Amino acid sequence: MVSGTQVGVSTLKLEQEVDLFMPNCTIRFVGVGIELIFSFKAIEQFEKFKQNLTQNEAGGMLFGSFKGNQVIVEEISTPSNGDKRALFSFIWEKKAANRVIKEQYSKGLHYLGDWHTHPEVFPEPSGSDIESIRSTFNSSKHELKFFILFILSNSEVVKSHVVLTDGSKEYKLNAHT
Ligand SMILES: [Zn+2]
Repeated sequence: MVSGTQVGVSTLKLEQEVDLFMPNCTIRFVGVGIELIFSFKAIEQFEKFKQNLTQNEAGGMLFGSFKGNQVIVEEISTPSNGDKRALFSFIWEKKAANRVIKEQYSKGLHYLGDWHTHPEVFPEPSGSDIESIRSTFNSSKHELKFFILFILSNSEVVKSHVVLTDGSKEYKLNAHT
């Protein structure tokens, strides 16, 4: 499913696309013809949530824009009060999540997927991590050909695990340094 250069049915107007493509992007992950770029702002937010062994798992959603084969994560949502936080599980409150998705969409940013922390340098997604992102992809209304699952390393952000799912299969992206 994820191949070629068209990653989403873009409905953005040209002037919006130009505004959203900021030059101060910092980290890129590439694979299956996709270049996933994290904005400086998103990276800064990730830095605050790197998990050590005593902290609970944290997570949220990824928001951004796409153009051709480039996907830019402009902003991430971070844990809210309604979220249940535990070391090995993370479930956010659905109502709050939908409100955030609508707010971001009104700013021209699409929901692109989810992120959460693991207390590992080189995190690997669990079976339920994969199940959860597939189910979100398959059960929600969207125009994307994939959703992103991002698992934040407790070391450097570039060591994080990044996969795309099309609802039935995952494609791993690798940090481009
Ligand atoms: Zn996980």
